[in-house]
Amino acid sequence: MSEAGLDALLIPPSADLRYLTGYDAHALERLTLLVLPAQGAATLVVPRLERPAAEAQAAGVTFADHEDGTDPYPLIRAALGAAGTGPTGAVGLGNRMWAEQVLALRAALPEAEQRLAGAVLAGLRLRKSPEEVEALRRAGQAIDAVHARMGEWLRAGRTEDEVAADIAVAMREAGHATVDFTIVAAGPNGASPHHGTSDRVIGRGEPVVVDIGGRMPDGYCSDSTRTYCVGEPPAEFREYYAVLHAAQRAAVAAVRPGVSAEAVDAAARDVIAAAGYGPAFLHRTGHGIGLDGHEDPYIVAGNTAPLEPGMAFSVEPGIYLAGRHGARIEDIVVCTADGVDRLNIIDTELVVL
Ligand code: ZN
Ligand code: ZN
Repeated sequence: MSEAGLDALLIPPSADLRYLTGYDAHALERLTLLVLPAQGAATLVVPRLERPAAEAQAAGVTFADHEDGTDPYPLIRAALGAAGTGPTGAVGLGNRMWAEQVLALRAALPEAEQRLAGAVLAGLRLRKSPEEVEALRRAGQAIDAVHARMGEWLRAGRTEDEVAADIAVAMREAGHATVDFTIVAAGPNGASPHHGTSDRVIGRGEPVVVDIGGRMPDGYCSDSTRTYCVGEPPAEFREYYAVLHAAQRAAVAAVRPGVSAEAVDAAARDVIAAAGYGPAFLHRTGHGIGLDGHEDPYIVAGNTAPLEPGMAFSVEPGIYLAGRHGARIEDIVVCTADGVDRLNIIDTELVVL
């Protein structure tokens, strides 16, 4: 914080708050806010009715609570004053803070310059500790176990919604605390990368993109895509799936310390472009993952930052042919001291059910 020129961080319920204190708080209209000065004690401002839950989970803080119907913002000013931090410096607001809180804090601390806390926190959360890597590995194993059972649910004649509902049950059985998304995109829906699900009936011979993820009880996220075929797919699909498979492997193989994030993106994109499908790969190659499903580092052209040991991210190239079908392969990987560690280890070959 000193290096970033920030006197305090103000962090609402978020992955940042969980990372810093262990408290998994829900973002609601009542103010919960960690006041973390660069020097001095941290204070967690909480609604009185949530104080017992906060005390049970949050470590390293003192608590200040507010009653319903009272203004909680003077507590923020008091917490900064108690730590010896005046309200006149620069404060870093949690990047995903609600606008109504940003504006209320501007009114409560009119002298303070508002900046983003991500300038400090993204750099910390970017490199996972060995314990965090093991947490992500457990999440990877849990989602792998769900993909391994896909043949139980994915059949012609069923709707995407029905398959997604079965997947959600299995994700909880495999250890997830929450199911964050269940994309089941059959046939033409597979050409829409963030389709979700629908009441469309899956037809014989259709490719189906299944991208699923959730949160384990410790807060760490899973996210994995496999593409299946319900019966023998069209010949052109087999052709471009082979291209995609080679692209995904090339990008995973490119991961090692010192290589730039954009070079990993290029490793996948070059294979796809060389086969003539460049415009059909219409998103970046990947995103970081941890306590948030999407976080730094982003594996995208323009991100020249070198990879470092402990960085965890997805490698998920896709090929999407509008109106026909699409495919994506997604693994979570970690950059190690000398290469790459795949956290999703089930096969990436095309699975024909
Ligand atoms: Zn995904
Ligand atoms: Zn992803």
